[in-house]
Amino acid sequence: MKQKEVQKLLTLVAKNSPVHLRRRSALLHRILKTRVSVMPPDCRHVDYDVIPLMITDGCLYNCSFCEVKTGMEFTCRSRQKIIDQILALKEFFGPDRQNYNSIYLGQHDALGAKPDDILCAAEKTFKILEIDKSFKQKPRLFLFGSAESFLQKKENFGACMNRLLFYTYVNLGLESFDSATLIFLKKPVSAVVMLEAFKKMFAINKEYENIEITANFLIGEELPASHIPTLVKYIDDAVKGVAGKGCIYISPLKGSKNSKELLAQFRTIKQKNRIQTYLYLIQRL
Ligand code: SF4
Repeated sequence: MKQKEVQKLLTLVAKNSPVHLRRRSALLHRILKTRVSVMPPDCRHVDYDVIPLMITDGCLYNCSFCEVKTGMEFTCRSRQKIIDQILALKEFFGPDRQNYNSIYLGQHDALGAKPDDILCAAEKTFKILEIDKSFKQKPRLFLFGSAESFLQKKENFGACMNRLLFYTYVNLGLESFDSATLIFLKKPVSAVVMLEAFKKMFAINKEYENIEITANFLIGEELPASHIPTLVKYIDDAVKGVAGKGCIYISPLKGSKNSKELLAQFRTIKQKNRIQTYLYLIQRL
């Protein structure tokens, strides 16, 4: 590297003082019009190095146990607001955009947005942020989804997502297949719907090579005793004869402190099924 280039590089590095970084994060929150409170666990594939783009706010359920909810009702942002946000992100990241190849479509149930808006957000982001010029290969798109927003999506939506220039990960919050546990969690979705979404997850993963659906479940010493046996049984039933993409993430319920019991529950789930199973410690950002 020539001396001038070294100087330029060091000047850029030195600019990143704590004060400068605080200002940058405040500006990013102003662009997004929210904080990024959590990212999908699938972002581990890119070391959580993603550009966030908010297309929805709030969520359908505002579950009592959730540490990351905003408490807002679920709403979708307009296309114009999404495009304005992408243009502002282009300016915010500037030449540093080349270091990113992954987008996180937020927030907690971006899959609940209208199918055309999701596709439009993905396509415009790819184009405006020039993801094809990134130093990194294999662009990825990450989003959260709920069981209902996933089940409501029609067949052709999967086909359209599959044609995007991104490999897409959708992470579903299913939590449990046990009615008593869902009531305990005050999650207003039936166990039947959760199970239907879980089965559809395997069908989509099998059908589309550029889409990977994953699911989250909870563990916790306070949960009804029926939760773990039901979870193990239904995971095992759903996985039978299915191979390939997709994994499950297991999160300890907020307030669960008995680490021995949590580990025992995690082991029971992991050892009794053949799907990749990871521990997911949700941390509010
Ligand atoms: S668990 Fe998911 S759906 Fe429930 S409040 Fe939290 S983010 Fe929303």
